[in-house]
Amino acid sequence: KLSARLQHIADRLPAGCRMADIGSDHALLPVYAVQNGIALSAIAGEVNEGPLDAARRQVAEAGETGRISVRKGDGLAVIAPGEVDCITIAGMGGALIATILSQGKEKLAGVTRLVLQPNVGEDLVRRWLVQNGWYLTDEAILEEDGKVYEILTAEHAEDANELNEALYRERTIPGCSVPLTEELQLLMGPRLTMAPEEVWEAKWRSEIAKLEKIRKSVAASKQESAREKAEELTSRIHQLKEVV
Ligand code: SAM
Repeated sequence: KLSARLQHIADRLPAGCRMADIGSDHALLPVYAVQNGIALSAIAGEVNEGPLDAARRQVAEAGETGRISVRKGDGLAVIAPGEVDCITIAGMGGALIATILSQGKEKLAGVTRLVLQPNVGEDLVRRWLVQNGWYLTDEAILEEDGKVYEILTAEHAEDANELNEALYRERTIPGCSVPLTEELQLLMGPRLTMAPEEVWEAKWRSEIAKLEKIRKSVAASKQESAREKAEELTSRIHQLKEVV
């Protein structure tokens, strides 16, 4: 049985896909996807020896060496162009996910769906998608073992620019005094802000509490730069509080 987090990712794979799971570690996701008739084939990519071994073992024990190819390499280097139509990257920081996608851009031709689960830095992933012609079709948020995870699903679209423009267009929320700018939506999720869930609200209440702590310690400093920083934080905290 998959963890709730991995199950959410598996639920977002298109039926009959040929997938690559980058940073696969234990290869649980590819094994589940092929054994449950979701993926026809899978590549489990890993850059580190330990997780690579774990992936090899898992795939062999599952009897899936025919349908799952475990490969050692950095990011999308393990994929040949046109080999897969869906890529999952989960359990890493958003900056690393964006770097992996940028460095492997030529491998994305023929890929129609990305399912990405950054542990932090979700805004960096959303920004990368907007800048590279991917339309964010779905955002999910869940809590498991005290951690909150966001799962971003994107599709390649010819008209991604127009779609994204409409998706991230500045909006107002009833009863909220600050406009929901593109920048705030990149941070908080354009879809998550449209239909706020309890987990999402709790995540942002906790982020606000962290920022308030930082503001307190910054405000104690006498430097000019600290004053500016405190002002920035005050304004950001105000924005977030209004939205949440
Ligand atoms: N994707 C699995 C999941 O979500 O449960 C495993 C997540 S694990 C925390 C992150 C994995 O990514 C590690 O096994 C690490 O070795 C691998 N990794 C980190 N950077 C990578 C890269 N540039 N290319 C491939 N794998 C990478």
